[in-house]
Amino acid sequence: MSEVATEKISLQEIYDLAFDVFSKYGCNQDNATALSRIVHNAERDGSLSHGLFRVPGYVASLKSGKVKGEAEPNVKQNLPTIISVDGDYGFAPYALEVGLPVLAKAAEDSGIAILKISNSFHFAALWPETEFLAEKGLIGIACTAAKPMVAPAGAKKAFFGTNPLSFAWPRKESTPIVFDMATSTLAMGDVQIAARDGHAVPPGTGLGPDGNPSDDPQEIIKGVLLPFGGYKGSAISLMVELLSAGLTGDNFSYEAGTTDNNDGGPPKGGELIIAISPALVAGNEWSTHSEMFLKKLKNMEGVRIPGERRHKNRLDQGPRFINKAMLDKVKKLLE
Ligand code: NDP
Repeated sequence: MSEVATEKISLQEIYDLAFDVFSKYGCNQDNATALSRIVHNAERDGSLSHGLFRVPGYVASLKSGKVKGEAEPNVKQNLPTIISVDGDYGFAPYALEVGLPVLAKAAEDSGIAILKISNSFHFAALWPETEFLAEKGLIGIACTAAKPMVAPAGAKKAFFGTNPLSFAWPRKESTPIVFDMATSTLAMGDVQIAARDGHAVPPGTGLGPDGNPSDDPQEIIKGVLLPFGGYKGSAISLMVELLSAGLTGDNFSYEAGTTDNNDGGPPKGGELIIAISPALVAGNEWSTHSEMFLKKLKNMEGVRIPGERRHKNRLDQGPRFINKAMLDKVKKLLE
């Protein structure tokens, strides 16, 4: 395994670098702020495949004209519990900033509410949206499709996206439980990082272009990823397609695959987010009851709670050590 060179950079510098790049390539203040916050928070938490690593892809889509840097998302509350955001062909973070507070208020009033986002481009992790809800005492569930990169169970050709699903559960006395996972064996960003850094990926991650299993990330990028857990992960990926495209009216992954300009940025698609108020659904005991369960779970030897790694990373406000080649690539965008 080759030694990878890194450079020390503060969290504020990460934010400023991202902001300057997004502004240079046509984002207005609101969009650049929302995107830079997402990049900063990903690096702060150690979500390395969705921080600075994504900046060149965001820029590629601004440059190609596929994504609008001055998008003005439009929120509608068609029913008290159904909120739609038309993302105006911008990146998802600003559409989320606009829609999530309305979703939270609707769930607090009615017990459950749905936010559907369309005409937007998602290139980030999903935990920021579910965690936003959990920090307000709500349960959050979010999913989005992508473009074909994953072979459904039994197939050898790509049809599903990596189709992430995130869930967050609020806790009164501590950080929320949050899982956020691609429904493929690995997120494509992690395969690309492994290819960049010369690491193999675990057996079973994907197939090469010849349709044979491979642990070589370069081969998997040319071939396909597999769903996690065989037909079970494939079923969850199918659900994500139906919720985030069937229910929002935006692209299924296969539709995004036929219309995307392959500029290296994200395809156009929808996102579905569900917010539930545990207090209104379960009553006052919801927290005490679930905390007893979580305590038992956490006390089991070997168990770690999803979200814990990021929340621990977050306590460290010091500089981050960023892959130097990648950082140079992002800085070069300012020349
Ligand atoms: P990981 O496999 O790294 O992690 C998935 C989840 O499992 C995380 O919540 C993680 O928590 C938790 N976890 C990891 N290890 C353990 C463990 N030993 N015990 C308990 N929990 C554990 O994520 P993926 O590679 O699947 O996905 C990475 C990111 O890619 C996600 O944020 C996803 O949203 C994003 N993505 C975005 C797409 C898009 O189109 N926008 C497409 C596909 C993926 P923790 O955070 O604490 O480590």
